Amino acid sequence: MDDFFLSEEQRQIRDTVRKFVESELIPLEPRLIRRETEGGSGASPGLTDEEQKDLQGKARALGFWGIDLPAEYGGVDLDPVTQSVIHEELGRTIVDFHFGGSVLPALFTCNDEQKERYLYPTIRGERVSCIAISEPGSGSDARAMRTTALRDGDDWVINGEKCWITRGHIADYVILFARTPSAEAPDGITCFLVDRSRGWTSAQIPVMGSRDKVGSLAFDNVRVPSTAILGKVNRGFDHAMPFIYRNRGYVLSAKNIGAMARIIEMTIEWARNRKVFGKLLCDRDNIVQAIAEMEVALRTSKLLVHHAARKAAAGVDFRHEACTVKAYVARTANQVVDRALQIHGAMGYAKENVIERWYRDLRVERIYDGSDEINLANVARNLFKGHVRPGEMF
Ligand SMILES: Cc1cc2nc3c(=O)[nH]c(=O)nc-3n(C[C@H](O)[C@H](O)[C@H](O)COP(=O)(O)OP(=O)(O)OC[C@H]3O[C@@H](n4cnc5c(N)ncnc54)[C@H](O)[C@@H]3O)c2cc1C
Repeated sequence: MDDFFLSEEQRQIRDTVRKFVESELIPLEPRLIRRETEGGSGASPGLTDEEQKDLQGKARALGFWGIDLPAEYGGVDLDPVTQSVIHEELGRTIVDFHFGGSVLPALFTCNDEQKERYLYPTIRGERVSCIAISEPGSGSDARAMRTTALRDGDDWVINGEKCWITRGHIADYVILFARTPSAEAPDGITCFLVDRSRGWTSAQIPVMGSRDKVGSLAFDNVRVPSTAILGKVNRGFDHAMPFIYRNRGYVLSAKNIGAMARIIEMTIEWARNRKVFGKLLCDRDNIVQAIAEMEVALRTSKLLVHHAARKAAAGVDFRHEACTVKAYVARTANQVVDRALQIHGAMGYAKENVIERWYRDLRVERIYDGSDEINLANVARNLFKGHVRPGEMF
């Protein structure tokens, strides 16, 4: 039955993904934890390519492939609310699984020749892409990037360094943002599609969590033809922002809701069974109050994500919502996992417990795709410039 929030179809999709997560992904958690603790340096704490592809095949048999891919490319292109419901369910595990058939949306702006070379093989899982904006000297302030692409006849010559690039160490091409200064546009930034075979190099950067594996990229006189330009010269950021707002509003934030829900479930279970000084934790007021507060925070987060997803589904401007949601949910998820770990005591700190992994994995949510401070700065700007009225959500 449809209700105010979800249709019958959306509920069915949610239930199917939930079953998939419970039967296929959660059972893999101990293996991934062992892989990290026993693997030694350089061991990937995530799924192997083979495991990822095998799981994607199983998910595809259930109809989950290309969930955000336009129908013209063979995807099902689900609406943002349904996508958020799916991401929430996927967020209930530390297993770094993603459905097949999803690509960085910037690739949809490829011309026909670029589609053959980059878009279609990436959809098929034959090529690995990354998107490179951040640099050692510029992260939040992306427009301060120093990587340049300078015209040389019909070619462009690229010099500079990128860092923190998800999949940058394994990608075989990069969607690169570079400064293309000219007399007409001294601060112009343009987007290029650059094959690794053109000569850029990379190295993995070890980081705290396992959600994203990142690399640095070096460009030393890398020469590309004009056909490498994605879209128009000096219009680079047109390709980045829709993807970033989507992530903030109903992809990453939805995943964090799923994580919070499972963490709270685990904490309730723990409190029901752990005795201290002759009394169960669940019989102690401070513990149950803390869990109740976690539930309030989760529900508030969920409503915010749903609201942003609904606005996105309606095709209206949801940028203010995306920033509000990201700033609130990322911080809330970190508070929830911190409290849950505290209630678990040493067992929360142990590698064998997924809460330990989440404690590390969730931390990055406050940094990437717009840090807390950047999202709050956007919210403040919208308020002070009068773009939105305080609290006017509907
Ligand atoms: C796991 C991971 C994956 C990533 N993947 C990618 C990727 O695929 N592609 C890519 O291009 N980048 C990627 N990044 C980089 C990410 O986008 C940046 O980390 C992010 O933009 C923040 O930049 P920064 O780390 O340089 O911090 P800075 O910009 O140096 O900020 C440092 C601190 O100052 C605060 N701050 C910044 N500006 C202000 C301000 N105006 N007022 C108050 N405080 C401020 C920040 O919030 C932060 O707390 C990734 C990062 C991580 C950790």
